[in-house]
Amino acid sequence: MEKKNIDWSNLGFAYQVTDKRFVSNYKNGAWDEGVLTEDATITLTECAGVLQYAQTCFEGLKAYTTEDGRTVCFRPDLNASRMKDSCERLEMPVFPEDKFVEAVKEVVRANEAFVPPYGSGATLYIRPYMFGSSAVIGVKPAEEYQFRIFCTPVGPYFKGGAKPITIRVCDYDRAAPHGTGHIKAGLNYAMSLYQIVDAHEQGFDENMYLDAATRTYVEETGGANFIFITKDGTLVTPKSDSILPSITRRSLMVVAEKYLGMKVEHRPVRFDEIKDFAECGLCGTAAVISPVGKINDHGNEICFPSGMDEMGPVTKKLYDTLTGIQMGRIEAPEGWIVEI
Ligand SMILES: *Cc1c(COP(=O)(O)O)cnc(C)c1O
Repeated sequence: MEKKNIDWSNLGFAYQVTDKRFVSNYKNGAWDEGVLTEDATITLTECAGVLQYAQTCFEGLKAYTTEDGRTVCFRPDLNASRMKDSCERLEMPVFPEDKFVEAVKEVVRANEAFVPPYGSGATLYIRPYMFGSSAVIGVKPAEEYQFRIFCTPVGPYFKGGAKPITIRVCDYDRAAPHGTGHIKAGLNYAMSLYQIVDAHEQGFDENMYLDAATRTYVEETGGANFIFITKDGTLVTPKSDSILPSITRRSLMVVAEKYLGMKVEHRPVRFDEIKDFAECGLCGTAAVISPVGKINDHGNEICFPSGMDEMGPVTKKLYDTLTGIQMGRIEAPEGWIVEI
């Protein structure tokens, strides 16, 4: 397969149109077969449910080239089942999970020329999403929906290595108890934009959100889960019903326990205990792990012993092992690597 003439290692994290995308429509209570199309635009009624009441959810995963030249993606079945949960919470019809995985494969195959080569650091980012497409003016679920998947090549998340970032404790909340924090809904992102723009203006890379009810427990950032390493080498990761269940975080928990022999704790984490941790990181599909060097709590700084120059040693081991599994250099647990 002839690859596109793209400067892979200098790609940013931005949308670039590719050749084909998948579209399936839900009408009269059923999904159609779905097709690949070259049309990258969508025409909707002005009164579509997504436009009026934000009835939409999405997923994110990557396809890439392994060391031995296979095109693969990572645990797409978990994206399918998480999207099912999102749809159920938003009164949207579920796109069948097996068909979701098949459609992901179809889209990658149709855009094989955009899958970055091994070693470039770039990947093909895949974006499945669904939205209410029929007219809704009284507040209720739409009757018709569209499920789509597009993909776009993205550059290495960190050019020149992952430098630790500085985050701040945010005064706004991300998710209410018993709200929608645990699903991947566009609405959770719309209301985080003000806070992230403000964080950047104040010189911080990300917001740390605390639990909305008591402001004593750590939740997550706008788009990544937290991992912490204790001084005796245990992986601690916050548990709450309003945290989005990151596939990267769930995979790192397995890597820590099964590959690195670490102790793993998934439990509520109080904000006042993190000053005693040795390392901190953010995890998600985009960067796998972003090391956090410093947390600013209204002027009080928590500086992790791992410092601001490089990833902490245990975080690095977790990062190297998970990316090694993804790239085919380390044997993967059953079902993690899905060949396209
Ligand atoms: C997508 C997302 C994550 C990361 O999940 P992954 O499955 O690891 O990519 C974390 N938090 C939020 C709020 C998210 O939307």
